[in-house]
Amino acid sequence: MSDSETMRAVQVPEADEAFEVVERPVPEPRPNEVRIEVAACGVCGGDVHVCEGGASDYPRIPGHEVVGTVDAVGEGVTAWEVGDRVGVGWHGGHCFDCEACRRGEFVHCTNAPVTGMDRDGGYAEYTLARSEAVAAIPGDPADEAAAPLLCAGLTTFNALRHSGARMGDLVAVVGVGGLGHLALQYARRAGFETVAVSRGTDKREAAASFGADHFVDAEAEDPAAALEELGGAGVVLATAPASDAVAPVVGGIDAGGEVISVGVPEQPVPVDVGTLVGTRGGVAWWASGTPRDAEDALAFSARRDVTPTVETFDLADAERAFRRLQEGEVRFRAVLEP
Ligand SMILES: [Zn+2]
Ligand SMILES: [Zn+2]
Repeated sequence: MSDSETMRAVQVPEADEAFEVVERPVPEPRPNEVRIEVAACGVCGGDVHVCEGGASDYPRIPGHEVVGTVDAVGEGVTAWEVGDRVGVGWHGGHCFDCEACRRGEFVHCTNAPVTGMDRDGGYAEYTLARSEAVAAIPGDPADEAAAPLLCAGLTTFNALRHSGARMGDLVAVVGVGGLGHLALQYARRAGFETVAVSRGTDKREAAASFGADHFVDAEAEDPAAALEELGGAGVVLATAPASDAVAPVVGGIDAGGEVISVGVPEQPVPVDVGTLVGTRGGVAWWASGTPRDAEDALAFSARRDVTPTVETFDLADAERAFRRLQEGEVRFRAVLEP
């Protein structure tokens, strides 16, 4: 229970300004909200949108891989109690009334706030979350191990389980970073033959440790040809937010295969349509999931021992953690601890 009136937080004061460490009032939960005492919050590439002007308001506290304990509940909250161990991801809530919500497609709610973008997130000692945006976290994983599962884990887990991959298929993962190292573990634990596609060879050993049966150095060889040589991929999960992470692998899918990207490149993605016609293939994107999906990802991770490799930082070092992430130096996920 909060006994102080202020809390330490990291905020982006204005678009295109650096993170600053500030003291802010501990927020009081409004109706349908819980207050979470934050134990850990992951740093995600998606946080760049807050820095670059994507937030609906400034100053804004980023952070959408929040793990903590409910320490106060607002009016009308029935699903959560003080003391519950919970998490919040990218999905910051949904309206229940728009067309997408009426179809049960809560992730695609047209009024959905994004955690850490449209609402303050988890780079703080306390944060508020809407009741429908909260996921239960079972007792097992450590705080810093649970946090990355709420965005990086959830997104790759959900993309793979909604893909057309079937037993016996080859699943390729492009990029061995924060998302890729989890995607490899999910694909391997789900029983697929797996291949990691990365630039250079410095992640070869790590990829094998995460469950890659094969490794393709996209600098040394044409990744599409390499995948074809392995029989063609049923699914290619592209995890790097770069246009050139998608286009060069389209030629590596098997008949009926697909490239599913979870990274969002700033540049358009050129795709060789002739190849897609020849393979009846597809290129698609996948965005996160609901809190209930997060609970599935957490449960699968616990049961099959999918564990993020993390570097932890003090909350006050958010700027340094974020820069390391952007420069590709983090092995493999950065987590802030207040
Ligand atoms: Zn994220
Ligand atoms: Zn809605």
